[in-house]
Amino acid sequence: MRVGLIGYPVSHSISPAFQQAAFDAVGFDARYELWETPPERLAEVAARLRQPECLGANITIPHKQAMLRFVDEVDGSAALVGAINTIVHRQDGRLAGYNTDVEGFARAIREDGKTPLKDTRVAIIGSGGAARAVAAASLTEGVAELVICARRPEQAERLLDDLAPLGIRPGTRARVAPLYEGSSLAEDAIRSCDVLVNATPVGMANHSGDSDLPFPAEWLSSGSLVCDLIYNPPMTPLLQRARAVGARTLNGLPMLIYQGAAAFERWTGRPAPVELMRRKALEALRV
Ligand code: NAP
Repeated sequence: MRVGLIGYPVSHSISPAFQQAAFDAVGFDARYELWETPPERLAEVAARLRQPECLGANITIPHKQAMLRFVDEVDGSAALVGAINTIVHRQDGRLAGYNTDVEGFARAIREDGKTPLKDTRVAIIGSGGAARAVAAASLTEGVAELVICARRPEQAERLLDDLAPLGIRPGTRARVAPLYEGSSLAEDAIRSCDVLVNATPVGMANHSGDSDLPFPAEWLSSGSLVCDLIYNPPMTPLLQRARAVGARTLNGLPMLIYQGAAAFERWTGRPAPVELMRRKALEALRV
């Protein structure tokens, strides 16, 4: 059987390293391949998912949203998030789409163990695909407050509107804070939150930009758990600054592993060998 990673580009991905090791470890006969797909070839690659030897795929930037129109059904939270990162080619021939980033993030926070999302104040930086997944996980877990800090507030408002059916609990405060230097709404949200999540690429290896932080470092506070969804480098400039003020930190590797484990379980129907996947991912990052 074949499973592919559909994205553009995909050569930097470490998913093959830990997914192939997981297939081999449980004796599941499948090959995890890189299917680099420019946008104009997406329809053709999506059609190939229906071939009998195809078990499914992972979807990454820039196709997580566009891929929705090529599947036959979409899992509930993925439909609200408006993006899929996993496809299963089911035995009845149908293509089912999922967003395992949502459960990947929720599990990463759960396993970290010290700051559960329930009843906490969460601030998310960014309003793209990953921010949507983190916001969906936060609402599902029952946060007390959710603030989306984004340089395009209108996009963040759409995010909250789209996720409203997840049932924002009575008493949950969900709002948008425009993100710019001098914005008191964003500063207050970031200073006072229990869990802060960087869902922008600022701080990523090879990311070019004016700054290596998505907001001024002075806004960080020691009482927050600071999560960066970036896993390469493992210690981003944001995490370094957060540690320097005494905050606890978490990088994006646990989320990557748990979203991968959830995809693996949907493809194979077997428990994922999570510790092996983590080890293989770390090895791949060191190369
Ligand atoms: P995306 O859809 O392109 O969204 C990126 C967001 O970041 C957008 O809201 C963008 O704002 C904002 N942004 C970019 N540069 C900014 C800056 N200088 N200041 C403020 N905001 C800025 O990307 P994505 O898929 O959400 O991914 C975001 C990050 O999460 C990436 O680093 C990705 O690798 C990581 N990620 C990790 C995992 C994991 O498993 N650990 C999973 C998914 C994603 P505009 O819309 O205004 O450009």
